[in-house]
Amino acid sequence: MKVHTFNEGDLASEMDLFYRVPYFERLYICLEGCKKEFLAGCRPIIGLDAYHLKTKSGGQLIIAVARDPNEEYFPLAYAIVETKTKDSWTWFINLLLADIAQNTRWTFISDQQKHRICCRHLYNNFRKNQPGVLIRALFWKAAKATYKAEFDRVMDELKEIDEDAHNWLQTHSTTIWAKHIFSEDWLIDTVISYDQVLGEQTNDTLFACWAGHTQFKVKNGLQSFTVDLAKAHCSCRKWDITGIPCAQIITCIFFNKQDAEQYLHKCFNVSTYKVCYELIIAPINRQNMWRPNGVQPV
Ligand SMILES: [Zn+2]
Repeated sequence: MKVHTFNEGDLASEMDLFYRVPYFERLYICLEGCKKEFLAGCRPIIGLDAYHLKTKSGGQLIIAVARDPNEEYFPLAYAIVETKTKDSWTWFINLLLADIAQNTRWTFISDQQKHRICCRHLYNNFRKNQPGVLIRALFWKAAKATYKAEFDRVMDELKEIDEDAHNWLQTHSTTIWAKHIFSEDWLIDTVISYDQVLGEQTNDTLFACWAGHTQFKVKNGLQSFTVDLAKAHCSCRKWDITGIPCAQIITCIFFNKQDAEQYLHKCFNVSTYKVCYELIIAPINRQNMWRPNGVQPV
């Protein structure tokens, strides 16, 4: 028999009374304030990880974190499980999805190479057999490339320098580590900040050629890109992927004598940030105020 208890949506615990002696197995917590703020202000991307609990009882702590509008970690949910297994991960993710689902497509990041993976984890594995400053630089250049032609160019360069390194990376699907494949739904860039993008704009000489309406061709050194301000699109795809205007977009915005910040995706706005931290996590009483529930203590 399973007993579910809920405390105003904040706490979901499960107790197996089959043996009539209560024992602790798992605990999942997603605070109402965190859930609502996540849905109101964070992007649809969730990081998952697990840690060993160094206590007498053992077990593992599973956590789910998001990114807030200021690109900082946002705690979403956590659980204590007996051990990290497929069953305990499935249990955790199903409870999390029941809390946040709302017909949204979520992207999960983990070090398990099943969805989208953390590039730092991938690089740490990569460098064990392929060390070196140049290889490292090319790895990150390939990972950060926002359009396929640039990615292919960097991978060709890597192949010329170290074919083994190139082949190792080719065994990992680009959908999990290469930015040029990333969906436009995620609006996340952990590498380039808005200031850095503005820095790019001031360091290079760019020329915007107005094609008509909201369309431009922008020359950036030996490269050139097409931009449509109305469609929030640049052919370099940085804006499409991150929601942050790239150097080409900013050139067009300045050409129009407009404010660049108005083209920043609303998920980065101060107002969104405030919404993200508007709710409070209500304080709760300690055990002295708890109501007895008739169940033997664990
Ligand atoms: Zn661009």
